[in-house]
Amino acid sequence: MLRHTIVAIVAACLALFAGAQPNAAPGARVVRYDGHRVVSVSLRDLRDLRTLETLGIDAFGCEISLDRPNEFLVPPDRYEAFVGAGIPHVVVIEDLQVIVDAERARLSGPQPRDASWFDDYKDLAAVETYMSELAALRPDLATEINLGNSLEGRPIRGLRISNDKVDLGRCKPAILLNSVQHAREWITVMTNVYVADQLIRGYESDAYIRSLVDNAEFYIIPVVNPDGYEFTWTTQRFWRKNLRPNGDGTTGVDLNRNWGYQWGVSLPGGTGGSSSGSSDVYWGTGPFSEPETQRMRDFVLAHPQIKAHNDIHSYGQLILWSWGWSPSPIQHQPEWNQIGIEMSLLIRAVHGRNFLPGPIYTRIYPVAGSSVDWLYGVFGVLSMSYELRGGGFAPPPSDIILSAQETLPATLYQAETMIERFQFVADWNRDCIHDVLDVLDFISDFDARDARCDINADGDIDILDFLDFLQLYSEGR
Ligand SMILES: [Zn+2]
Repeated sequence: MLRHTIVAIVAACLALFAGAQPNAAPGARVVRYDGHRVVSVSLRDLRDLRTLETLGIDAFGCEISLDRPNEFLVPPDRYEAFVGAGIPHVVVIEDLQVIVDAERARLSGPQPRDASWFDDYKDLAAVETYMSELAALRPDLATEINLGNSLEGRPIRGLRISNDKVDLGRCKPAILLNSVQHAREWITVMTNVYVADQLIRGYESDAYIRSLVDNAEFYIIPVVNPDGYEFTWTTQRFWRKNLRPNGDGTTGVDLNRNWGYQWGVSLPGGTGGSSSGSSDVYWGTGPFSEPETQRMRDFVLAHPQIKAHNDIHSYGQLILWSWGWSPSPIQHQPEWNQIGIEMSLLIRAVHGRNFLPGPIYTRIYPVAGSSVDWLYGVFGVLSMSYELRGGGFAPPPSDIILSAQETLPATLYQAETMIERFQFVADWNRDCIHDVLDVLDFISDFDARDARCDINADGDIDILDFLDFLQLYSEGR
């Protein structure tokens, strides 16, 4: 019953969301939020949500549930009617434009002389410059990478961090950390760059970091959606999608509904995503229809050693994994759940914040065509997704370092877990892919009594080793 209610509420949320933001076309003048209040509402029942819908009051976030308060954006001409409706609420932001103006003034003014890079938000150019600086600090550990261009021709850049001088004689598993599929989630960029910063600066002094950088590869892509990110800095602060002209006067595809696993599947109550170009969760014209998701897909296909992934979002304080498209538990649910709980404990130990772990569908709402489902569903990757701290998409800059600090140990733990689980021991031909060629190669070495075939290390090469190998192989280890 509760599930049905939540699904119905989510459906209503997504319907609301279809009109949640003015659809400013690229090149349009700056969108303003004068007198718009952000209110936090603890929904008592579906009627409250219908009342809000009737009043034309849109969800501000999209994590609508009965379990916790939800934020809504109230335009000034509807506030009186909203108050009159008697829905219990707390005004979180009196005038959203004041926040936007203050943020803009702060960011365009001079930074304090002793400011750290993580003291305030950074635009696309500054992020790219900083990545270059980090790579220059340790060229032996860090390399700049370019995944190719966005729809408007902006390169999607990132960093590869690993110590190639450490040769394991086999593939090293890789973790892919990406942020800003959703343009307005600025704090995710900073949190992600901080991981790169700490891996590079901490390599010499921190034995734990050194072991991770020696035994794995890190691929850090801070801005998957560079067009959208730029747009939030110049024109519309709370833009979410990419900048695809949809041909019907609307703009933008939700990149995290555009991945090719269970793409475009309409879930109960019409949730999961939307076929409407005006919706903030529009899934596009086909799986991987967008250059940004194509670039990410091709990158993953070209790097079969990617065995872990974290798609970083804000906000909501969550640690999520598959499925997004189905309420059924994944095959690895017990294992992923254990990892998620551990990550949550690590986060809480830093600044006391509570991040709830769980599958996307049951923890927040149904999502079809997400990156997490594609990486897990197609490749069995240990794919997770954070919803970071913050009571909105414009958390104060003081939250940046706190967010970065509290999630770092959990992210490193995810990498550590990956290293333990995916050692490529059954990847006998060392091509980073588990396939039947590995079995054939093993059999040939086994026949030749190659010493490497003593899998159980008992000094004999016998059928037990062969069975051990098959076990490792079947587990994808
Ligand atoms: Zn997001």
